[in-house]
Amino acid sequence: MNTHARQAAPESPHGHAAGIDPDCIFCKIVARKIPSRAVYEDEEIYAFHDINPWAPVHFLLIPKLHIASMAQVQAEHAPLLGRLLALVPRLALEQGCQPYPEGGFRVLTNTGRDGGQEVPHLHFHVLGGPRPWLRG
Ligand code: 5GP
Ligand code: ZN
Repeated sequence: MNTHARQAAPESPHGHAAGIDPDCIFCKIVARKIPSRAVYEDEEIYAFHDINPWAPVHFLLIPKLHIASMAQVQAEHAPLLGRLLALVPRLALEQGCQPYPEGGFRVLTNTGRDGGQEVPHLHFHVLGGPRPWLRG
């Protein structure tokens, strides 16, 4: 067996690894090319504190897969996004949100220009903690 043989990384038509946009700020965060403060990580999902928080608790939950926004979500993404959303209650409490119903949290996904989206990599804001908040 040729021990030098290596499986090439799958390439997109743009010449980069499938599922990643090398120009995307959140793909760079996942790859640790841009630093962030981690909240949670597994093979498919990353959560990190927002750099400019609007609330006492404000973190972002993203699929590592580069999906530009909710507008590109398809049925094949359902298991991944289901798993991602199912993490919210646990992570929100761990990050300091008070228990439901007196406490709680807000989950927010901006989509496209009219939706107020600034970073084109699908992300869910999780906001919580005592009010007032700066926004939201
Ligand atoms: P959007 O407006 O796209 O829904 O939200 C983008 C969010 O990403 C904003 O709340 C912004 O503060 C956050 N953000 C942008 N760049 C960075 C960064 O480099 N690091 C972190 N941790 N958050 C960022
Ligand atoms: Zn990306």
